[in-house]
Amino acid sequence: MAETPQGTKLNPGDVAPPGTPATGEAPCPDCQGKGTVNGQRCRNCDGTGVVIQGIAGG
Ligand SMILES: [Zn+2]
Repeated sequence: MAETPQGTKLNPGDVAPPGTPATGEAPCPDCQGKGTVNGQRCRNCDGTGVVIQGIAGG
């Protein structure tokens, strides 16, 4: 059961809230970090160009 603190906005491409251990920002795979797809704001990263992904290993 995943719970997110109030006020934390997750984008569809995020796997965890920012600051979660073993996660970090990565270029959005949908827009290649540009924040836009076909001239429109990327929905995967909400136009930020980055998504929160799990970091393998460690
Ligand atoms: Zn994107």
